[in-house]
Amino acid sequence: MPERIPEALQEKLTKRLTFYQDIGIQLFYRDRYPQQLASVTEEIILPEPVQKPQPVKPVVETRPAPPKLEVFPVASGPSLFEAINKIPDDTLLKIHTDLGDCTRCKLHRGRTKLVFGDGNPKAELVFVGEGPGRDEDAQGLPFVGRAGKLLTQMIEAMGLQRQDVYICNVVKCRPPENRTPEKDEVETCSPFLLRQLDAISPKVIVCLGSVAAQTLLETNRGISHFRGEWLDFRGRKLMATYHPAYLLRNPSAKGEVWKDLQKVMVVLGLQGKKGSQAGKSS
Ligand code: SF4
Repeated sequence: MPERIPEALQEKLTKRLTFYQDIGIQLFYRDRYPQQLASVTEEIILPEPVQKPQPVKPVVETRPAPPKLEVFPVASGPSLFEAINKIPDDTLLKIHTDLGDCTRCKLHRGRTKLVFGDGNPKAELVFVGEGPGRDEDAQGLPFVGRAGKLLTQMIEAMGLQRQDVYICNVVKCRPPENRTPEKDEVETCSPFLLRQLDAISPKVIVCLGSVAAQTLLETNRGISHFRGEWLDFRGRKLMATYHPAYLLRNPSAKGEVWKDLQKVMVVLGLQGKKGSQAGKSS
């Protein structure tokens, strides 16, 4: 007799599939697992097995060795981001519309305004922060408080204007008392960030702070282990550096961030335009 998928698991899978549909994801595939695991994974991801249960081995037991970077505990199973394909012709407008007046996670309860993101929809450079603070929540715009002013100075020191780049966050609603977003909140909101990044298709992504970096890299390693190094994110260059709010508390770290941004300037062909202003953002 084929083994039935437990009802609790079926319910969990159905909820997850509904969530994927909510965020506009229809197709799933996996190619980094051995064939026998791929068949098991397909059984789990596609809706058919929910209706026609097949023998399923526990995924935890058959999961292959972890990737080089440890998996951030956002995902209890295989990488969420790897399972999400780029949506053809996706736009920021469509993503904003799909997000709507979002109540998908508990952060919606305390928000004043949802902070979707702001800037050039065709930017070569995207900054990703953690989540809105008090000023951002009030205005519905990212990085408009003290930390935002410092970010603006850094952008201008690179030879750019704020409207040249795109700025967004991992979660789009302010966490209570500016606490760190919790893993279920990050897991629920970050697929929309992923769509934003895919739609903008920037040359460089700069993660501001550990939450943004750990989320996109799906790692729980501390940012100090990889800050300032070029990393790959779905075929794009990713650089993690300190959050401007951290710099306000630790001004001595501004020099490190400026070194990171100079590397970004080289890739974007900005070196020499404003390089002499390095000290102005520090
Ligand atoms: S944080 Fe994201 S998922 Fe949660 S309610 Fe706000 S927009 Fe929705």
